[in-house]
Amino acid sequence: MSRFAYVNGLYLRHAEAVVHVEDRGYQFADGVYEVCEIRNGRLIDEALHMARLERSLRELRITMPMSLPALGVVMREVVRRNRVREGLVYLQVTRGVAPRNHLFPAEGTPPSIVVTAKSAPSRAGDSKAEKGVSVISVPDNRWERVDIKTVSLLPNVLAKQAAKEAGAYEAWFVDADGMVTEGSSTNAWIVTADGKLVTRPAESGILRGITRTVLFEVAKAAGYRIEERPFSIAEAQAAREAFFTAATAVVMPVVELDGKPIANGAPGTIATELRRRFHEFAAVAPARSHG
Ligand code: PMP
Repeated sequence: MSRFAYVNGLYLRHAEAVVHVEDRGYQFADGVYEVCEIRNGRLIDEALHMARLERSLRELRITMPMSLPALGVVMREVVRRNRVREGLVYLQVTRGVAPRNHLFPAEGTPPSIVVTAKSAPSRAGDSKAEKGVSVISVPDNRWERVDIKTVSLLPNVLAKQAAKEAGAYEAWFVDADGMVTEGSSTNAWIVTADGKLVTRPAESGILRGITRTVLFEVAKAAGYRIEERPFSIAEAQAAREAFFTAATAVVMPVVELDGKPIANGAPGTIATELRRRFHEFAAVAPARSHG
């Protein structure tokens, strides 16, 4: 249960934490966000999340609401006040409050910032990963700038809901060339017959996931080869394994794609190994997590 939220300088009771009706995030989805995993009370890969936040803001010409060290203090305080040991911290920055007008607000309008945190026991994710999850494919109808982590997530929301209504857990977007881009809130991977990991390059069509970036290091350290190239649904269905990555899911085996089982329909051994190794890696690399 969330108890407190940080809103524009104040720590408020969660039930009473509100933003203005003319917040640009509310009216135009004019804002960006980050989601960071918390493990043993520590922020995982904080520096990478903060670097991506700065990039998203820069691309949209929204100013940073406060310095990175100050933001680190606020995130830790929200985690502490909500007594989160295992879970997620959510951070959102919008272009601020101004009379509704498509044009940017007057120079000097302060950006809005909200930080929340919630517990999500890692055991719940582990038991899901032990069974693996089903995925459906949907046409990718998003804009070109999916590299920016904007709160404008309507296609992602519709895709995730379509997955649920089809009895699946995640939806993978497919581009006009028939190639998988990414999931509604995850990056997509397959394992080839000869054990190579394949994932789409981050140059187009996807968000550069932090879990994806870190998994490159984890997988290389474990001796795996990685190929950055697009793959199709048919290739994924015929693959040795499939999985997806996100801070909210870590490494999640995919056992069924558009109704077809992947391999024998059980979670793959490589995905399962990478899931286990991910936190071992995070635990021995405190410099990366700035915990
Ligand atoms: N793609 C999309 C569209 C996402 O929303 C997310 C999660 N925010 C990801 C990929 C995975 O990114 P990360 O590993 O940083 O959570």
